[in-house]
Amino acid sequence: MKQTLMTPGPVPLPPEVLAVLALPMEHHRTPQFLALFARVLTNLKKVFVSNEPAFIHTSTGSGAMESALVNCLSPGDHVISIVSGKFGERWADMAEVFGCRVTRLEVEWGKAVRVAEVDLLLKKNPDAVAVLTQACETSTGVLHPVRELAQLTKDLKTVLMVDAITALGALPLPMDEWGIDVMIGGSQKAFMLPTGLSFISFSKKAWALTATSKIPKFYFDIRAEQKANASGESFFSTSVTHLRALDRVLEIFLSRGLHKVHARIQALSKATIVAARELGLTILSEVPSPSVTAILMPDGVDSAKVRAHMETAANVIVMGGQDQLKGKIIRIGNMGAITDNDLSVTLRALVQAIHAEKPGLISDESLAKALAAAQGILQETPAVLQ
Ligand SMILES: *Cc1c(COP(=O)(O)O)cnc(C)c1O
Repeated sequence: MKQTLMTPGPVPLPPEVLAVLALPMEHHRTPQFLALFARVLTNLKKVFVSNEPAFIHTSTGSGAMESALVNCLSPGDHVISIVSGKFGERWADMAEVFGCRVTRLEVEWGKAVRVAEVDLLLKKNPDAVAVLTQACETSTGVLHPVRELAQLTKDLKTVLMVDAITALGALPLPMDEWGIDVMIGGSQKAFMLPTGLSFISFSKKAWALTATSKIPKFYFDIRAEQKANASGESFFSTSVTHLRALDRVLEIFLSRGLHKVHARIQALSKATIVAARELGLTILSEVPSPSVTAILMPDGVDSAKVRAHMETAANVIVMGGQDQLKGKIIRIGNMGAITDNDLSVTLRALVQAIHAEKPGLISDESLAKALAAAQGILQETPAVLQ
């Protein structure tokens, strides 16, 4: 049975990207590869919508989270960290490991941060060097108000660092226009690549911090990377295979139009949400991110069992919940080369799996309505990513 991969990373890859991944190896210092590297760096900036350079680390997304901290901060620096789920916790923990003084702004899981609360914290803590936030907190499917947060920090010394690993490439985040200071992305999410690359860019304000930052760094030293990039090379060996595939993905993004890529992901999100509601299910997030949809399971239905059933009975892969959401939600990704049919297959598998737990909970009529509603929404938006 064909696997239907519906997780919020890794995501299904377009066939033309898979084909590039199978090409023979070449060396990363050849003129041909360096031409590709230059093109990739130029095109990557267009996804950040920034005039500042974009950098590539050969690491998973968490590497770029670390890079943001070690390149801009010093031990003892005061950092405000918005913690609304697993990834917020990770970034706050990381900042503590590097000796920063972290004030955690705890947000109920499933809720978006209140801009007024951040405003108040910034007023009370004028010494804050950085505010850390996710754009989308992937563990809950919440979209945070990044644009409004950037407005708060714009005229302060404080920089806004945004983990946009499930947002960059999935929704508009114009870095310069909004005044985001550090933004990061990851290859296996909206970039439709295998896991193993991360992306980062710095505003002028954040770049100034890299000159004085005292946290030790070597592999992620962005000023060394910048020097290497300026002479057309990468600081270390780069992953030729990933870079060639990234080149192809950027071509897909730019030739088809980033707004169309965003629209497709938005349509999948809307279709998933509307279908879930037709099935009588509730969406966890009060502000759902287009990139991932977290659906609460009915009372008495264990989402871990639903997830496992979907996998064994239909080979549909979705994610469950972690920690306080364990057993409570399933998370469906909306990024990557997902076909209209993939969503139908997923919805059928979901209903079948819920029935295995609580027979008769969802009527055939509701399922038919959910499928029709989802397909109606998807048909309005071209599937530009396949
Ligand atoms: C996936 C993800 C990460 C971590 O990325 P890795 O590639 O697993 O290191 C960090 N933040 C968010 C919001 C994510 O979705």
